Amino acid sequence: MSVLTPRPSILSIEPYVGGESKIPGVNRIVKLSSNEGAFGPPPAAMEAYAAIAKDLHRYPDPSSSGLREAIGGRFGLDPARILCGNGSDELLAYLILAYGGEGTELVMSAHGFVMYDLTGRYAGCHVIKVPEKNLTADVDAILAAVGPRTRIVCLANPNNPTGTLLPSSEVRRLRAGLRGDILLVIDAAYAEYVTDPDFDPGQALVDASGNTVMTRTFSKIFGLGGLRLGWAYLPAEVMDILARIRGPFNVNAGAQAAGIAALSEPGWVEKSIAHNAEWRGKLTAALEAVGIKVWPSHGNFILADFATGETAKAADAYLRARGLIVRAMGAYGLGHCLRITIGTSEECTLVAEALAAFMKDG
Ligand SMILES: *Cc1c(COP(=O)(O)O)cnc(C)c1O
Repeated sequence: MSVLTPRPSILSIEPYVGGESKIPGVNRIVKLSSNEGAFGPPPAAMEAYAAIAKDLHRYPDPSSSGLREAIGGRFGLDPARILCGNGSDELLAYLILAYGGEGTELVMSAHGFVMYDLTGRYAGCHVIKVPEKNLTADVDAILAAVGPRTRIVCLANPNNPTGTLLPSSEVRRLRAGLRGDILLVIDAAYAEYVTDPDFDPGQALVDASGNTVMTRTFSKIFGLGGLRLGWAYLPAEVMDILARIRGPFNVNAGAQAAGIAALSEPGWVEKSIAHNAEWRGKLTAALEAVGIKVWPSHGNFILADFATGETAKAADAYLRARGLIVRAMGAYGLGHCLRITIGTSEECTLVAEALAAFMKDG
């Protein structure tokens, strides 16, 4: 008989369920369930990854120095305040474990990214989910929800899965309304896709305040989700704290090499942004034309709203029967919606046609 007892908060966690990639009995799968980008990995990244194979017996550079230089150069940031991680999920965990914990509160918006909830519970925080307005984070409501025990506020901007965005003035207002001992985590996983001019991914606020951090990822526009690579831009003080807890070799050699190469792939980001804007618009219009509500999205995905959980489930089953995998949203309290990643033009067309047929004859 087992007498092992984990910390009680651990038992309140429902394990993360990722986007599916297989359907039994279906040969051709179109996977639009994890926002992985439409074009596969950048060719230069594949080459760099293959080239390090002969050095796999070597430990990676523990400080990811070449990669941090490359990120700093690309985004105009001081490499000394960039920290790389095994996915941005790892960096979120470091931040939440370092500044949260038993007796503290983590505040997030109601349909914010689910990892804040899971990791907050892991750390022992009480996680507070604040109601949104039109599926958008509500700054006044977040500020009203903050209490004396609050230590962390997490904001995905743009948010996954809703696709909604807070303009830079609203994010500044949020920071200005938070006490100095509250860490504001701005998760800008989809920053590269944003075309709205009134957007700052967070770096200006990181520079202007000592208690704001920005996290970014190579998993979305840079197409390297399988390698697990993210980064954060941090105040020096936070950098010092995370340096104490970070695993010394937390970013593997393949991820470092591929990440550097991805940043230098000519035209990659421009091509991805243009494709995304075009097909996000086309897919949105196609769904709206057959009576499906679509929430306006700033990311590389759309949130299709079927009004009832029953219809969303039926639509999901209809798509799956045709090899099209999208993401059910029950875990986000949005069971009436499906999140659909913007894939290739062919993939978007297949989904649009299938949903048109579904709406016609279910
Ligand atoms: C995909 C995603 C991430 C995760 O990124 P990794 O770098 O792959 O861990 C973080 N935040 C949001 C909002 C995301 O959608």
